[in-house]
Amino acid sequence: MKKRLFTPGPTPIPEDIMLAMAKPIIHHRNPEFKEILKDVNENLKYLFQTSQPVFTLTSSGTGAMESSVCNILNEGEKAIYVNGGKFGARWGGLINTFGGIPIEIKKEWGTPPDADEIIKQIKNHPDTKAVYLTHSETASGTVTAVKEIAKKVREISEALIVVDGITSIGAMEMRMDEWGVDVVLTGSQKGLMIPPGLAFIALSERAWKKVEITKNKNFYFSLQRTKKAFDSGDTPWTPAITLVIGLNEALKMIHAEGIENVWARHSKLAEGIRVGCKALGLELLSKNPSNAITAVYVPEGIDFQKFNDALKYDFGVTVAGGQDHLKGKIFRISHLGYYDEIDMVGMISALEMTLTKIGHKYIPGSGVRAIQNYFNQHV
Ligand SMILES: *Cc1c(COP(=O)(O)O)cnc(C)c1O
Repeated sequence: MKKRLFTPGPTPIPEDIMLAMAKPIIHHRNPEFKEILKDVNENLKYLFQTSQPVFTLTSSGTGAMESSVCNILNEGEKAIYVNGGKFGARWGGLINTFGGIPIEIKKEWGTPPDADEIIKQIKNHPDTKAVYLTHSETASGTVTAVKEIAKKVREISEALIVVDGITSIGAMEMRMDEWGVDVVLTGSQKGLMIPPGLAFIALSERAWKKVEITKNKNFYFSLQRTKKAFDSGDTPWTPAITLVIGLNEALKMIHAEGIENVWARHSKLAEGIRVGCKALGLELLSKNPSNAITAVYVPEGIDFQKFNDALKYDFGVTVAGGQDHLKGKIFRISHLGYYDEIDMVGMISALEMTLTKIGHKYIPGSGVRAIQNYFNQHV
């Protein structure tokens, strides 16, 4: 059976990337690898839309999240974070772990924070050192208005803006420098289309000043150590060589397509999926849906397990389920990374055939017709 992955990490890997990673391994202190690292570092800046260095860490995305807390926040310092899903909640866990004082803004899953709520908390806590946001909350498929929030926060506060861009980088507009975002981070197995194992983080000059005076504990994730190695074209520890080689290919692909075109493609594919789902009478969870992932309610009276099994075992399609209180209540379709229109039409078609199989009522062909019409009208 042909397997098709529609999950928000890992995401499908293009053939050229797989082939590059299949070659015999090289040593990371060789000039050959240093050349690759140089190209990677340049293209990462383009991806993040920053002139600052973007560091490649050997860990999953959470490693970059951890480094953005333990290098920036001292024990006893306040940080605001938005908990509107599993990944936003992770900020709270990290701030707590490193002895910071978390100030939580809790949101219903699917509802993004508005800038005024964050401003209100900053006014309540003027000594706040950082605001931790999740650009695309993967648990609910919801986008936070990072640009607007960063602008408003900067008007009244010195607090650093830290953004988990793990499912937004390479999918949705992010202009780190122009938007005045201080820290942006992501992981490899999402928009970058390579296997899990790398994380990336970039810091503004303001953020660096804070790193230099932060005394919290860190070692492996020390950004000062990382920067020192980076400045001499190196990495502090053994890098995941194979993944960096794959990354080089992925970044070349993104560069060749053009970052704005990558964002536009994600926007179109996401809207196609939303249009297709709605035409099937399916309800979407998010009030401000992400272009990386679409969270869809499991129709009334349908058993999620049966639905998921049919999708997976009859059609080879893997989607993600719901997490925590939404387990069994939603499913999440990823359109992040290496996808095109035909993948999306196929996804809606698989959804239709699965719904037919488990007895959900809808007009056959309505989803496929809707997504095709949408794509035909938006060439
Ligand atoms: C996947 C994801 C993470 C976690 O990344 P890991 O690679 O599993 O450590 C964090 N935040 C968001 C928004 C994600 O989608």
